[in-house]
Amino acid sequence: MDTHAVIVICGAGIAGIAAAYELAVVRGVPVRGGCWWEAGDALALTSDKSTEAYRNWWPGPDAAMVQLMNRSIDRLEQFAHETDNTIGLNRRGYLYASGDAAQLPAFQAAAARIAGYGAGPLRIHTPGSAEAYRPAPAYGFADQPDGADLLLDPALIRAHFPYLSEHTVAALHVRRAGWFSARQFGMLLLERVRAAGVQLLRGKIVDIKTEHNHVVAVEVAQAAGTTLHITTPTLVSAAGPLQAEIGRMLGVELPLYNELHLKAAFEERLGVVPREAPLLIWNDRLRCLGARKSALIWRRSRRYPSCSTRYPPVFTDGLKAVVVRAQCSCCGTITRQRLSRAFRSKSMSSSPRSRCAAWRA
Ligand SMILES: Cc1cc2nc3c(=O)[nH]c(=O)nc-3n(C[C@H](O)[C@H](O)[C@H](O)COP(=O)(O)OP(=O)(O)OC[C@H]3O[C@@H](n4cnc5c(N)ncnc54)[C@H](O)[C@@H]3O)c2cc1C
Repeated sequence: MDTHAVIVICGAGIAGIAAAYELAVVRGVPVRGGCWWEAGDALALTSDKSTEAYRNWWPGPDAAMVQLMNRSIDRLEQFAHETDNTIGLNRRGYLYASGDAAQLPAFQAAAARIAGYGAGPLRIHTPGSAEAYRPAPAYGFADQPDGADLLLDPALIRAHFPYLSEHTVAALHVRRAGWFSARQFGMLLLERVRAAGVQLLRGKIVDIKTEHNHVVAVEVAQAAGTTLHITTPTLVSAAGPLQAEIGRMLGVELPLYNELHLKAAFEERLGVVPREAPLLIWNDRLRCLGARKSALIWRRSRRYPSCSTRYPPVFTDGLKAVVVRAQCSCCGTITRQRLSRAFRSKSMSSSPRSRCAAWRA
């Protein structure tokens, strides 16, 4: 292994891979002789846990995030075109729904503000409005509207989204949004980066040497117990949730903190939500009472009379169990079910069952 590198990249999550791709493949920077250090496997720390969804709809405080996302989505679409959409990019959008009429003015004002940041026009559909609402296709991304459609006509909402509660009074369909296989995307970029001569090596960057406020070398700990000293004028830090550690190696305390995100998968045996649905976000408050040992999740099933509420259990570190309470809208029966941590490893499909006769297993 050379003890000098033109560029060192730290981290092979989606950010490190994208940085290597931009440098070596897009800009043709001669990174041959550069090297890239990853403490674990590529795309395996945070990047393979993602929901893999994207949107250009951001609430501010200013237009910066909308502009960044518009550019990022332009590039994603270009990549999808070039690769015959191997990454499965779709444009189903995000659908924010509300059953609370009191929230409507705020809902509408926020949508108008975000549209004004450059996310695209806001089309408002009330009963009898002239402009037709154009539903999103389940697959593909080409020739779709941007901006958002705000559906305020209950009949229109029911016609296009019959799986939402009949109490839904507003549905905001954000159009430059959807999801794709980010892992597939990362692997395709990685292949091209390697073909451009960049090496991905296993090891943890444990120290960074600087002179006159410039990086001059990094120390890399390897599995064999050896430490390499690599001189380099350029370090790209793409350490994800460990970014603050890299900052500390440079003597800089970065104002970063990690936010826990959870993803729960469960078998939806009743087929309540069709597979072609957009990303659905119920905008009104749901009660979730957290405690160190257990959390109580309250969910009232309005549309489906047979207690079909299947709320995914939420486990965080230190959370031993989740209590799910569901109330049947046809008989009012309240059921409680304690879901222990062991439950998670068996199946995510268990649910509280009501004594209601209408229960369908
Ligand atoms: C449950 C969940 C859902 C999410 N959903 C979405 C979503 O829908 N849309 C979206 O845009 N984002 C989403 N995100 C966020 C997104 O996944 C992350 O922002 C993204 O994956 C971060 O990528 P990264 O490359 O910065 O970090 P990582 O993927 O964590 O990669 C950092 C890499 O750096 C390596 N590393 C760190 N320190 C060192 C060192 N000293 N030496 C060598 N290697 C080192 C690590 O081993 C790791 O592989 C979600 C995240 C989670 C957890």
